[in-house]
Amino acid sequence: MVFRKISDYPSLPDVQDDDLVLIGSGDNTYTVKGSVFKAFVAAISSQAVTAAKDAQTAAAEAALAAASVDPAMFLSLIAGKGDNLEFDADEGKLYLTSGGERISDGITVITQGAFARDPLYNGLQNRKVRTSADVTTLLTLEEVRGKSAEELDAIVQKAFDFDNLAEQYERGVKITETFRADGLHRILYKCPACMAEGDMEGKGTELTCHACGKTWFLNEDSRLEATDGVTEFPHIPDWYDWERQEVKREIDRGEYRLDTPVQIGLMVDYKGLYMVGDGWLTHSKDGFRLTGCKGKLNYEQKPCVSHTLNADFYWYCIGDVIGIGNRDCLYYCFPKDVGGRIPPVAKARLATEELYKAAMAERRRPSRTDKPQKGE
Ligand SMILES: [Zn+2]
Repeated sequence: MVFRKISDYPSLPDVQDDDLVLIGSGDNTYTVKGSVFKAFVAAISSQAVTAAKDAQTAAAEAALAAASVDPAMFLSLIAGKGDNLEFDADEGKLYLTSGGERISDGITVITQGAFARDPLYNGLQNRKVRTSADVTTLLTLEEVRGKSAEELDAIVQKAFDFDNLAEQYERGVKITETFRADGLHRILYKCPACMAEGDMEGKGTELTCHACGKTWFLNEDSRLEATDGVTEFPHIPDWYDWERQEVKREIDRGEYRLDTPVQIGLMVDYKGLYMVGDGWLTHSKDGFRLTGCKGKLNYEQKPCVSHTLNADFYWYCIGDVIGIGNRDCLYYCFPKDVGGRIPPVAKARLATEELYKAAMAERRRPSRTDKPQKGE
């Protein structure tokens, strides 16, 4: 979505603090809360619009209207990295500046403690944990120009590689809340003792498998201890990795399948989510298929479309969600409770990632019918 002309939002009458707003363009579209969006517009409107008006050309106005905002610039400004914005009428681009110098660096904003405070899976119950954020320059513009796409990929990958739970343990952060295991089954949905799926329940300080009765205590370091017998995975991410391998094995055997009734919400603009009723979502080696709206909706998404899946828990207090779609429309699918069970959206995410890897590997494999090209 192209960022709207700033003068379209003089007082932002339509945007409420809790609204979702899309910022960016194409594949770099980010969803932010209305309150953040307002802060952003307030920060740039006094400076960028003035800069554009100073240019006194229709071309500058048009370019500004069409300019899509770089999310890195947006994050930088919110984090106080730059102190001003400058509009270049010739290039039709906005630049973040600091002390009068243009900065176009790659900037990261990495938080600490945010996951421990609000681990997403527990229905928005916050824990008393200090949070902070580091804003650092990952790459300067000169460094970006001097590196290949692969080198840049590796640097970005390393910067965003973290283990919140290992960090909590290393820093000695204690989570003493007695509800700390609530909702943990959203992530740890499969029992390593009896292999049952969908019978786990995280409640209070314990995770229980209702199929075999095994129980694990979640201690204040966020590590698990079986109350009786062997502890398979003290570290939660190890349990999750095991589930990934289990999903991969299901895919390899041709047995993986998600088949669930869903409620459907569509996002087609920045104004909100349009709930359009019931439908059916399937996921298999062929990808996603969503049908609904009394036969009017039939959307398919192949495994190679995305390397991961937007799978979130208790999303905006509506429910666990699987988000698919393209730049024209996003489909938010809320799996329904059938017989007291809601399919784990975390599993759909793992499956999406493993199916993508398989599809890419298949694509790279030379076909037997491929003829050598001239010059090869
Ligand atoms: Zn079990």
